[in-house]
Amino acid sequence: MSRKKGRLFVISGPSGTGKGTVCAELLKDIGNEFSVSMTTRAPREGEVHGKDYFFVSRDEFIANIEAGNFLEHASVFDNLYGTPKDMVLNRLERGYNVILDIDVQGGLQVKKSHPEAVLIFILPPSLAELRRRLEGRGTEDAEKIEKRLGQALNEIKLIGEYDYYIVNSDIDEAAALARSIMAAEAAKVPESVRPIIREYEKETK
Ligand code: 5GP
Repeated sequence: MSRKKGRLFVISGPSGTGKGTVCAELLKDIGNEFSVSMTTRAPREGEVHGKDYFFVSRDEFIANIEAGNFLEHASVFDNLYGTPKDMVLNRLERGYNVILDIDVQGGLQVKKSHPEAVLIFILPPSLAELRRRLEGRGTEDAEKIEKRLGQALNEIKLIGEYDYYIVNSDIDEAAALARSIMAAEAAKVPESVRPIIREYEKETK
């Protein structure tokens, strides 16, 4: 069959739900690529420029907004985050599935501009468990953790805008469910069925 365009997957959910780990699991599969975001947040220990994020100044970020370089962008916890547009569209065109790990505001913007995108929401088993995970991560102080928990509930309230949800109690099960969702999406009958029919017609000629 002729090569198809890739699919765009958005993975959102409160900070600390294990979105990043689910994405890392999906990236082990051939054909899936991750979109590296741009951010004004300072790098955490071990984070690499160009791999985890493109770390830029606020001025540079704003220049990119003005140049129309983002597929979506949002302010999250006082920092700016955005998805570079060209990189994503390029990869989709080349037939790769692109995975965006972005917040809900960004997810809704992508849904508007790309209604065919598949939106997956990752939930923590409970807010108490989320608090334990954030505390265990040790990257945020107490005040920031409280802010992130408050934000978590606000994000969960928007789950109705998403196509699928996964409760991440166990990372292997969560990744397996995400893979199943991606596989089911790949098996969906597309809007334009003509190319499929043409493949079989060819054999009758
Ligand atoms: P962190 O600072 O912990 O890496 O990410 C904070 C939040 O920003 C996470 O929910 C993450 O998914 C979100 N985020 C990361 N990159 C982007 C992006 O490009 N756009 C949007 N809207 N959110 C992002």
